[in-house]
Amino acid sequence: MLSRKAPAKINLYLKILRRRDDGYHELDTVMAKLLLADRIELEEQPSGISLLCPGGALPVDERNLAFRAARLFFERTAIDRGIRIRLEKNIPVAAGLGGGSSDAAAVLLGMNEIFGCPLSLENLEDVGKRLGADVPFFIQPAPCCHAEGIGEILRPLSMGTEYSVLLINPGFSVSTRWAYENFALTTPANTYILGREWQDNSIEQLFSRHYLPRLTNDLESVTCVRYPEITSIKAKILQNGALATLMSGSGPTVFGIFDAPDAARQCAASFEKRSGWTIVVTEFMG
Ligand code: ATP
Repeated sequence: MLSRKAPAKINLYLKILRRRDDGYHELDTVMAKLLLADRIELEEQPSGISLLCPGGALPVDERNLAFRAARLFFERTAIDRGIRIRLEKNIPVAAGLGGGSSDAAAVLLGMNEIFGCPLSLENLEDVGKRLGADVPFFIQPAPCCHAEGIGEILRPLSMGTEYSVLLINPGFSVSTRWAYENFALTTPANTYILGREWQDNSIEQLFSRHYLPRLTNDLESVTCVRYPEITSIKAKILQNGALATLMSGSGPTVFGIFDAPDAARQCAASFEKRSGWTIVVTEFMG
């Protein structure tokens, strides 16, 4: 049996550049993997794909990205065997933390190992792209990447930071598709400053006093209007001493970056426990 972690990600900034004719959006973003992770266990079986996902929060058929990843792997390699997958979900679902994409990547990587590495990393990224724009990021090993295109043009960055990350997920789910479709590309506020200034630089520089206050996520202009709670959570995180706070991806998870784990934990404790909320203190993957 092979056991693998499927990490969550946050977007340290997210800029939408344009909408392509096929409906996808071109982005400029930095994604960083976290220690918060789902767990995937894989075991070869004679035939078929069986998926077990305790808790019943997710379907265990074609609708699950882990299942689809396994099917695509067998299609691409023409390997006539089966796989049993057990998925322990720890990452909140539809939360802007990339959990589904990460599960898919972990299944592809794990199956490749089990079946004798028939696919190169490049082949795996190519298969991953068909499952979701963020899957290639989770396939390649760097803990942090600058991403362009629809998220598939990746430049690995070193992640030498020791910041703590507080995640607050207020429980409702946000459709990624809805968020992108409702983003107004032509608003006057849509100035593209950060990406142009910060081009080939290090992640340490992104965490500097100069850039931290400039980190923005374009999709907040959509989600904060529909869900004002996101704005309130951000304000409270800042009041509690975070160096930066932002919604991740298409939300609704908000993260705060703190320079010490105690500060992150204190901020976490200042939020009342409400039903449906997930509050996690974690770290960047090193
Ligand atoms: P995106 O990667 O699109 O930004 P997200 O990070 O906000 O998405 P996910 O947790 O990946 O959110 O879930 C997105 C959708 O994918 C959900 O509607 C969920 O039902 C579906 N889904 C399918 N398989 C999985 C999985 N293994 N884990 C989580 N969600 C899954």
